[in-house]
Amino acid sequence: MLNLQKLKHLSCICAYCNKVMPMDERTNDHIIPKCANGQTEVKNIVICCQECNGLKGNKLINDFLEDHLDKAECFYNYLNMIDYQMGNSEYSDAVSEVLSESLKMSYLRKKRREKRLKKQKKKSANKVSITPEDEIQNIEYKFELSGKSFYVNKLQARILDYYLEHPSFSDYKELANELGIGKTRFIREICCINNLTGIFKIKKMSENGIILNDLLCEDTHNKISKISD
Ligand SMILES: [Zn+2]
Repeated sequence: MLNLQKLKHLSCICAYCNKVMPMDERTNDHIIPKCANGQTEVKNIVICCQECNGLKGNKLINDFLEDHLDKAECFYNYLNMIDYQMGNSEYSDAVSEVLSESLKMSYLRKKRREKRLKKQKKKSANKVSITPEDEIQNIEYKFELSGKSFYVNKLQARILDYYLEHPSFSDYKELANELGIGKTRFIREICCINNLTGIFKIKKMSENGIILNDLLCEDTHNKISKISD
């Protein structure tokens, strides 16, 4: 039976670079890292030099070997070397099990990452990017009856345009979603617009949000139109 002490004793070369190592340079590396619930047991341990151990860090074994193809060859040499000394394939068989587990974990991680990226991409496609310049970018609107102008920034203009196109919409979430901004930001912009125009009827404002009632005020005095970008 192979135990950790014996494995260390037999590991005269590094599992990842095959460098010959004196006893005091041999370190344990978890094939599936501890942070991914890798256990400290023989099948999940290889002995390697400090440099390779540092390089592998918290990566899963297959991700690490994919990034360092030269080390993959060394890794299989190492397994063979242990098997040869043991006179059986007990160690490499056990490690193979861990390898396929690691492969599965890595696959699932990649899937999750792809899903997350897709979601982010979708979100940012709608998102209006606001630079400091946009914040002060003045886009002109006017009240139709009085002819009085007022100026808003790019994001506020998006809100106003949407609202001019959809005079009957009442769900602010729909618009916030469209703009890819959070509720807090949306409310801030609505309040800014309202300070200038008073066109939104704000029924209730609370810590949790705002209830906008009949977004467009029916009062014809407040009808607005866009003058310039
Ligand atoms: Zn090494």
